Amino acid sequence: MKTGRVFSGARPTGRQHLGNYLGAIKNYVALQDDYDCLYCIVDLHALTTLDEFEDLRQNCAEMALDWLAAGIEPAETIIFVQSQVPQVTELHTILSMFTPLGKLTDLPTFKEKVAQHPHNVNYGLVGYPVLMTADITLYRAGIVPVGVDQASHLEFAREIVRTFNYRTRSQALIEPQMKNTEFPKVLGTDGVQKMSKSLNNDIELAATPEVTLQRVMSMVTDPQRARRTDPGRPEVCNVFTLHQTFSPAEAPSIERECRAAGIGCVDCKKILSQNINAGLAPFRARRAELAQNSRLVWDILDEGARRARVLADATLQDVKAAVGLP
Ligand code: ADP
Repeated sequence: MKTGRVFSGARPTGRQHLGNYLGAIKNYVALQDDYDCLYCIVDLHALTTLDEFEDLRQNCAEMALDWLAAGIEPAETIIFVQSQVPQVTELHTILSMFTPLGKLTDLPTFKEKVAQHPHNVNYGLVGYPVLMTADITLYRAGIVPVGVDQASHLEFAREIVRTFNYRTRSQALIEPQMKNTEFPKVLGTDGVQKMSKSLNNDIELAATPEVTLQRVMSMVTDPQRARRTDPGRPEVCNVFTLHQTFSPAEAPSIERECRAAGIGCVDCKKILSQNINAGLAPFRARRAELAQNSRLVWDILDEGARRARVLADATLQDVKAAVGLP
C-alpha cells in the first residue's frame, strides 16, 4: 500500500557517478516501495547554466539508462523529461506572479550561481526556484526527499504555495512536505571535494572495470602516509570510506591492516576496485542490455511524460480556474 506521492528532479548530467548513486539514485529506488514516485530529468533547469546544448538530449538518455539499470521501475514509477510536459512552463509563469522578486534575488543559491556564472546571469536563473515549485506542485506531490542543504529551497516552494492558495482563496495547490533524508556526501578521487563530473574527480557507474581500476588507483589517500611502512588513518581516507560501502565484510580487517601498515594503499585500492566492479556488475549488465535498443529509453521517457501530462492537466485546470484564466 503506497502512502503518498513523491517528486524529485535532477539535472541531466549524463552518465551518473558513485556520488549520484549513493547520494540520490539508491534512495529513489528504495522510495518506490512506499510511495508513488515521479522522477524527473530537469532539462529546462539545465538550460539556465549551459553554454553548449548539443549534448543535452543524449545526457537525458544516459541518465535515464542509469536510473533504469539501478532499479527505477517504469511500470510503477513515472520517469520523464521535464520539457516533455510543457504545462510546467505555464504553471511557472502563473506562479511567478505570486513570487516576490526580492526574495528570489536574495536567495543564497542565486548569489552562488551569479558568482559561478558571472557572464550569464539570465532571467531563468532568477526564476529557478519558481520553476522548481511548478515541478513539484504540478504533479500534486506531497513529499519531496531533501537533504539539509536543499531544505531552504523546499521551504521557499511551500511559501509560494501558501501565498497562491491564500490570495486565490483556493486549495488548488498542495503544500509539499519535506522528507528529510540523510544523503551521504561522497568525495571525489581527490579525497577533498564532492564527487562531481565537472571537477573530473568522479567514478562513473557505467565505466568499464579497467577504467574503474584506473580511477580508483588515482584516488588520493591519507596525505600523511608518505611511505608504505607508515601507518595509515582510515578515518581520513576516502578509499576506506568507499570500502565501507563496497567491501562491508572486509572493511574491519582493512581498517586494522591500514593502521598497522600491514596493507599498502596500492593493494587497498586494488581490492576496492575489484569490489566496486563486482558490486556494479549486475547494474552494468542491465544497462548494456537496455542500451542495446536505442529507442527503448525514449519509449519509456515518452510514456512517462504521457502519464505525467495527465496529472499536469488536472492541476493546471484548477490553477487556471483559481486565477480566473479561461
Ligand atoms: P543537481 O544539479 O540536480 O543536484 P547533480 O548531478 O549535482 O545534479 O546531482 C544529482 C543528485 O545526486 C543530487 O541529489 C545530488 O545531491 C546527488 N549527488 C551528486 N553528487 C553527489 C556526491 N558527490 N555525493 C552525494 N550526492 C551527490
